[in-house]
Amino acid sequence: MPPRLPVIAHWACPSTPATRVSIFSFRRCASSSATSPEIYDVVCVGGGPAGLSLLTGLRNSPITSGLKVALIDGQDLQKSRLPKDASLGSFSNRCSSLTPASVRNLQEIGAWKHANASRIQPYQEMQVWDGVSDARISFDWDTARPLLTPRKPSQPTTIAYMIENVNTTSALLGRLEELGGVATFSSTKVESIELGKDAEDLDLSSWPILTLSNGKTLAARLLVGADGANSPVRSFAGIESRGWDYGRHGVVASLKLEGPGRGGAEHKIAYQRFLPTGPIAMLPLPGNMSTLVWSTTPERAAKLKSLSPNDFIAMVNAGFRLSTADLEYLHSIPSGQAEEIAWRGKHTPINEAQIPTNVVEVQAGTVANFPLKMRHADTYTGERVALVGDAAHTIHPLAGQGLNQGQGDAAALVKTIEHAVTTGQDIGSLLALEQYNSDRYAENNAMLGVVDKLHRLYAVESGPIVGLRSLGLRAVDAMGPLKGFFMNRAAGGA
Ligand SMILES: Cc1cc2nc3c(=O)[nH]c(=O)nc-3n(C[C@H](O)[C@H](O)[C@H](O)COP(=O)(O)OP(=O)(O)OC[C@H]3O[C@@H](n4cnc5c(N)ncnc54)[C@H](O)[C@@H]3O)c2cc1C
Repeated sequence: MPPRLPVIAHWACPSTPATRVSIFSFRRCASSSATSPEIYDVVCVGGGPAGLSLLTGLRNSPITSGLKVALIDGQDLQKSRLPKDASLGSFSNRCSSLTPASVRNLQEIGAWKHANASRIQPYQEMQVWDGVSDARISFDWDTARPLLTPRKPSQPTTIAYMIENVNTTSALLGRLEELGGVATFSSTKVESIELGKDAEDLDLSSWPILTLSNGKTLAARLLVGADGANSPVRSFAGIESRGWDYGRHGVVASLKLEGPGRGGAEHKIAYQRFLPTGPIAMLPLPGNMSTLVWSTTPERAAKLKSLSPNDFIAMVNAGFRLSTADLEYLHSIPSGQAEEIAWRGKHTPINEAQIPTNVVEVQAGTVANFPLKMRHADTYTGERVALVGDAAHTIHPLAGQGLNQGQGDAAALVKTIEHAVTTGQDIGSLLALEQYNSDRYAENNAMLGVVDKLHRLYAVESGPIVGLRSLGLRAVDAMGPLKGFFMNRAAGGA
């Protein structure tokens, strides 16, 4: 259906011809003065992967490209760009596994071609096992293909793509630059958000008015909170966010392995071992590089960070090889882990074919830790407000879904705004935004629930639950269609 008159864009444009402008817009345009806020259709607070994806989607769509949009980020957005001379011997420690569904969205909005492809690593296999019982499940598209009947041509052959977050944001910024038309306020914090006033010449009483650290004020027909877990936009909207802290930290690091991995350069494998303190995961990057996400207690995270590079490398190798009792002891000694692990390794039977190849180097300055929490906002929408990404939900990283959920949110919100523009609705009205909430809330809630339960299930160290979960894991591994279902879900498919 051809788009109807893009009323909203015209409302926001002072130079719009009078014949296309509503009385309301004319009053607003007439009222602008030096002290009035600048009027925007969409103001997005947060230039992380979710906010950038939303704005790129809006600018890319012929239906919404006429909207007047602004981006505000407290950080310098130049730092969200991958340096042109980035070497393949060093990688950022903030990497994510992008599902094929997220990659498809990035392709559709024209951003994927701006990513540095040489720094992206697709992987075709996943090995996941229980650190207590050793029960294992493997996901491998090559062997699973016959199980996925009928297999659609669009079904992926890659489980996911490992990419540095900065490569994703860099690609989105590159595409936004190409599209143009975004008023960007970088290194500019939102200091306050208030409702506008019911002035004589301009009724902004339901509009969020943002005061920025550079002294400017902006009025938003629709204010998007893409401003991360502590979202000021969510606070302004009075939307509660509920959940809990896991009492765990995610330790990340960029690692060099002794080779390209067990499947060689063409068949990359991701590994995750569930330990009672949390999973340790090693995800492939190009060449011999890999990225670590080790979820563990804050005390153990602090210990890992304090170790010498040699002891740290030995601990990561031990995390995939030694018993939980061994690991507990190794965390309790102040130093000398490398020596201790070398000795213990000689006395522990290890099936090297099923675990990652040895880490030989940790990239200097990449060991860091992040507190892990689960949060879900009560709703993603309010009058003239929508939340996307971590502002709406934060999830344990064990399934690598947080950034992907944000990409799904951004794509869905673009569709909702397109529909509102096409049907002549006010894009900030709750009614127009409702579709976005119903498209995303239940889906994200289900994912948050599954991941939270997995975390709890694997935190149990002994007793019948260990037997039952191992039985469950082995059963799913043996059941073709169910395994195919999980693989499709992990890939972001239906
Ligand atoms: C250890 C770890 C591993 C992870 N691994 C994965 C993975 O494999 N796959 C995956 O999908 N996800 C993963 N995630 C999750 C993923 O990193 C996040 O979900 C994602 O980065 C969130 O993106 P966002 O754009 O919603 O928010 P953010 O990236 O947090 O961006 C928010 C932006 O808002 C800005 N902002 C905030 N307040 C203000 C203000 N007052 N004024 C102006 N600007 C403001 C900030 O500067 C920031 O740029 C992982 C997370 C962790 C901790």
